[in-house]
Amino acid sequence: NLFTERNSSNESVQVVVRCRPLSKKETEAKCSSVVKMYPSRGVIEVENPRARSENEKNKIFTYDSVYDESTSQQSIYDETVRPLIASVLEGYNGCVFAYGQTGTGKTFTMEGFDTEEGKGIIPRAFEQIWSHIDRTTGVEFLVSVRYLEIYMEEIRDLLRIKTNKTYELREVLGQGVVVVNLHSQTCQSAKDMLKAMRIGNHNRTTGTTNMNEHSSRSHAIFQIVVEMAEQRTKTFKVGKLNLIDLAGSERQSKTGATGDRLREATKINKALSSLGNVIYGLAENSAHIPYRDSKLTRLLQDSLGGNSKTIMIANIGPANFNYEETIITLRYAYRAK
Ligand code: ADP
Ligand code: MG
Repeated sequence: NLFTERNSSNESVQVVVRCRPLSKKETEAKCSSVVKMYPSRGVIEVENPRARSENEKNKIFTYDSVYDESTSQQSIYDETVRPLIASVLEGYNGCVFAYGQTGTGKTFTMEGFDTEEGKGIIPRAFEQIWSHIDRTTGVEFLVSVRYLEIYMEEIRDLLRIKTNKTYELREVLGQGVVVVNLHSQTCQSAKDMLKAMRIGNHNRTTGTTNMNEHSSRSHAIFQIVVEMAEQRTKTFKVGKLNLIDLAGSERQSKTGATGDRLREATKINKALSSLGNVIYGLAENSAHIPYRDSKLTRLLQDSLGGNSKTIMIANIGPANFNYEETIITLRYAYRAK
């Protein structure tokens, strides 16, 4: 057995794993589940369906937390994300990533469904932010959102698609790395934020020939900036939150990609591996953090490291035929920590 000890050298990076239930299709196809979780210990055990001997059979991984198929949207939010949003409201930066193979629940985790139980992290974050604002006196808040997508190392503004602007990354004193020309929408309520999210989601798929393929190959970044001016002390604080539905992590060799598709695949994999390298570098307190290796890490530079908090949610599916991809995701997530 490969037993890996939890490495908690950097508390500001938290890695959790969420496993979705077997889908209806998988159940009908009589797939078996190869994933066993021990939530109280943060342990996952994965059974190799093609093991030839006892000692190749199970692989064991440990994370900050693991969430099995019965985990509700509310409990994953309360246990992992709520404290991060609270620190954004104190003026820190934060990132929440959903990582994993296409079809494992990244969008389910980040956006979820439009119901009380079904809503995901993004709409719950809106509610937490506004309930904090509504309860707080003596502080003036200015909340704005941006919603962008990185596709093939190109940035697209999801709140303004009908423009021919170009979106470059630039370092601005006091603001960190900003996307030039990106639309920033001021919001007065959770409802306003929800509206921006919906517009962006709609725009994400317009003008693309294959919606599923497009969204599985691009990173969607919902950015919330909370500016706070405390009247009595005349202090000013800014918290920035990035909620990221990453491109699918599946190996592209499996899909038989060639030409443009392969070039595209290489760029996607590069962004994901550079994100892994940055998070790993931070966790290891490395002297050189390779932020510049991709647009994604460059854009998030001021929200990764320093006083910022990061949560990486690695999503997996339980089915036996996904064994290899599941192991790759678990290794990535382990290394990210
Ligand atoms: P991804 O964004 O990673 O490609 P999705 O979020 O679209 O994956 O999820 C794939 C399918 O699995 C969807 O039908 C989704 O509703 C379902 N699903 C994902 N996670 C869960 C979960 N934890 N519980 C129930 N259904 C889930
Ligand atoms: Mg998705």
